[in-house]
Amino acid sequence: MTTNYDVVITGAGTAGSMAAAALANKGLKVALLDRQPKEKIGVKICGDATSGEHFKRIQDITKVDPPKGDEVIQKVAGAWLYSPDREVKLELVEEGGTGIIIDRFKLGMRILDNAIDFGAELFDESMVKEPIITDDYVTGIKYRGKDKNIHEMTGKVIIDASGIIGVLRTKLNPNKTFMDLELAPKDVCNCYREIRDVEPEIESPEFIRLIFDQDVAKGGYIWEFPRGPHSMNAGLGVMRINKMNPHKQFDVFIEQRKELYENSKLVHGGAWRVPLRRPQDNLVWNGFMLIGDSGTQVKPTDGGGIGISVNAAAMASKTIVSALENDNVSMDGLWDYNVQFMRSIAPINAPLAIMKDFVIPLPSSILNEIFHKEILTGDDLLYGNASGNISSGFMVNLVRAWRGKRILGTLFKFRGILKQMDRARTLYENFPDNSEDFQPWRSEIMNIYGD
Ligand SMILES: Cc1cc2nc3c(=O)[nH]c(=O)nc-3n(C[C@H](O)[C@H](O)[C@H](O)COP(=O)(O)OP(=O)(O)OC[C@H]3O[C@@H](n4cnc5c(N)ncnc54)[C@H](O)[C@@H]3O)c2cc1C
Repeated sequence: MTTNYDVVITGAGTAGSMAAAALANKGLKVALLDRQPKEKIGVKICGDATSGEHFKRIQDITKVDPPKGDEVIQKVAGAWLYSPDREVKLELVEEGGTGIIIDRFKLGMRILDNAIDFGAELFDESMVKEPIITDDYVTGIKYRGKDKNIHEMTGKVIIDASGIIGVLRTKLNPNKTFMDLELAPKDVCNCYREIRDVEPEIESPEFIRLIFDQDVAKGGYIWEFPRGPHSMNAGLGVMRINKMNPHKQFDVFIEQRKELYENSKLVHGGAWRVPLRRPQDNLVWNGFMLIGDSGTQVKPTDGGGIGISVNAAAMASKTIVSALENDNVSMDGLWDYNVQFMRSIAPINAPLAIMKDFVIPLPSSILNEIFHKEILTGDDLLYGNASGNISSGFMVNLVRAWRGKRILGTLFKFRGILKQMDRARTLYENFPDNSEDFQPWRSEIMNIYGD
């Protein structure tokens, strides 16, 4: 039995490594476990799009520099959004935009190395199996180590940062933790992604491309994120409920885009999943926390989770430092992390989950109408995705309603969705100060989301 860690973290992705760095630089004794060998940690199937601002915001807590040097592959000036029929292209340009395409492996490795330099102990090739629970506290983990034997490790706080698998979360009693064991098939996006070197020069590589073709990527979208003039990070996501094979669908897309991909060279390809829903209703239990994809802390409309996960890691670390100082790692002692996350990031993400549920069943014909008739403008989308607040002004804008007369039924339904989004936002902004008031809050959340 290895004992006496202050914090044991399962998973050395962006969430786990950033938490390890933030906690170790505060002098805490941190163990960080990952099933991968060290040289493969940070290899993740991902669009690799983020913003340095997410990292700058938390730098004073984490002491980890934002993406820099050759970790930044391409600066992003904006996005091109294509209608399903590809006939309409909306250009979204955010003034002073800070988007970047990163070399995720290099960035992941540096965060991990920072954590190790600050004193965190890495246990690579270590497959975490289950939590150890003592008197309703998570007090440790069981894992299969490099030597293939099962070991136990204890800590005062145990973090599940194992990504969408949520290896510890899914082995706890949900009636006690108020965390979901499984994600609904409508909330899981199955993705396939390739990095390809291409022969033709990519036009305007500073623009990322999103194509909303529901025949190819049902419930999701196709992305092309240029990595300079001759390299593309391209992929697509399909909602699990639609039972499509994302790899096969990607091949369909590649066939449609021969002008770019003919004679291209495959650099890396693979499939993975991203959770697209509201955050877990509760992120803490006695001696236990969720960060990153295990806490479903991803923006439901675009699958962006890198920036959110590192911010969640910083919030969780701040709470752990105080909880250990106060010698109270109970659910109440760790509650402040819930409050920080639920009142800052969740009021953006959680309403967007309602919008996602409304949009994903829409067929290409309706999406084409929305694009062709400019029922939603680029500004609506840019502001809405950043704030979680889609301007309801457009619903009373008669001109736009008239433009969309062929899909008036859908637009009326959307008005109801906007109201629900407002209700959800208000609830998250008023997330309870303590666990005693959590149940009434959760009942209202369940009413909205229909669980
Ligand atoms: C296809 C795709 C595209 C995406 N594109 C973007 C994008 O462009 N921009 C963006 O911001 N976000 C994107 N995301 C989301 C983003 O990758 C994640 O939200 C973010 O990186 C947070 O990850 P994490 O650290 O929580 O989990 P992960 O990065 O999944 O890390 C989890 C770690 O836990 C380890 N692990 C798992 N199980 C065990 C176990 N039992 N024992 C030990 N270790 C274990 C894994 O090896 C891994 O290292 C994308 C996701 C996918 C799937």
